[in-house]
Amino acid sequence: MKAVVFDAYKTFPRLREIDKPTPGPGEVLLKVAGAGACHSDVAVFRDFDADFGPAQLKPSFVLGHESSGWVEEVGEGVTGIEVGDAYLVYGPTGCGHCRACSRGQDTYCENAATMPYLATGLGRDGGMAEYVAVPARNLVPLGDADPVAAAPLSDAGLTPYHAIKLALPTLAGGGKHALVIGLGGLGQIAVQILTALTGATVIATDTREDAMQRAAANGAVTVAGGEGQADRIREATGGKGVDAVFDFVGVDPTIALAMSVVALRGRVTVVGIGNGTFAWNFYGAPYEVELTSTYWGTIEELHEVVDLYRAGQITPEVEIFSIDDALEAYRKLEAGELAGRAVVAPHGA
Ligand code: NAD
Ligand code: ZN
Repeated sequence: MKAVVFDAYKTFPRLREIDKPTPGPGEVLLKVAGAGACHSDVAVFRDFDADFGPAQLKPSFVLGHESSGWVEEVGEGVTGIEVGDAYLVYGPTGCGHCRACSRGQDTYCENAATMPYLATGLGRDGGMAEYVAVPARNLVPLGDADPVAAAPLSDAGLTPYHAIKLALPTLAGGGKHALVIGLGGLGQIAVQILTALTGATVIATDTREDAMQRAAANGAVTVAGGEGQADRIREATGGKGVDAVFDFVGVDPTIALAMSVVALRGRVTVVGIGNGTFAWNFYGAPYEVELTSTYWGTIEELHEVVDLYRAGQITPEVEIFSIDDALEAYRKLEAGELAGRAVVAPHGA
């Protein structure tokens, strides 16, 4: 079968023929419906090497940690899963039995350091291929929802959902403001989730004008970058500042912007893996501001994200690619040329 393989550190992935996987005990083989191209993959194939980055991301493996598909075959011991049904894949693969995994939060597995993989598509062969084998425990049913357009939900949907849910106490009540920085795959869905879950006014910014237009179409108030941006954001909040900021870039200037516009007792969540730094100082931030980071989300939350999708409350905007054009999806992602999450659909849209 055709697969997008990360073959060697600091090299662009390759499209090549590999063996179709067989599902092991407790696993299910999916015929892939969709596999999203995430900016984290760019870090995997550009930034990491033997000295930098998680050891589990050692090449080679098939990319695609955000995928969906139809059950093709079930492995030994798997029950209650019908061939042909559509599922979303919860990517993270923890030990399955520690406290974190027991609550469906494999991302914070207590045994992560000794696990061979981080996730399906991150160490273990992922969904950017015609078929993928995944643990049955990681399947979230899609029912009759379109699995191709749903693929981004498993990361570009789940990651902002988890970050936003943790910030809900700061957004509860009237007159609240949220700010989304970086309106790519994750940021655009973040705008939709904030609208679905809170009554807050959503302010959004990106260096790309077309990205801001898409956010505006989803109801966000957009504020362009450049001189005086922090003042203009503060003005949009009536002067009090932003209650919850979500930074989907995570470089020095975006974290600095977040900390300069956050309100007293507000919360800044850095989701973007830009490796930025911020020099905290007692007088440099309003009182009781929380600055935190989040990583992906839980299995239970992915069920909730699917509920929002099936209710029509969130709809990922996607740009579909065939498996033969999969590398073009990564090229466009890196070049900032996508108008929606890139989804590779090996068996057609
Ligand atoms: P993307 O490339 O689709 O979107 C990034 C967006 O940020 C683009 O629209 C780009 O124009 C914009 N941008 C870049 N620099 C900017 C700046 N200085 N100011 C404002 N906007 C800027 O990427 P994505 O797939 O949505 O991922 C976003 C980030 O989140 C990446 O760093 C990715 O690695 C990270 N990520 C984190 C997690 C997690 O669990 N924490 C999960 C998935 C992705
Ligand atoms: Zn665990």
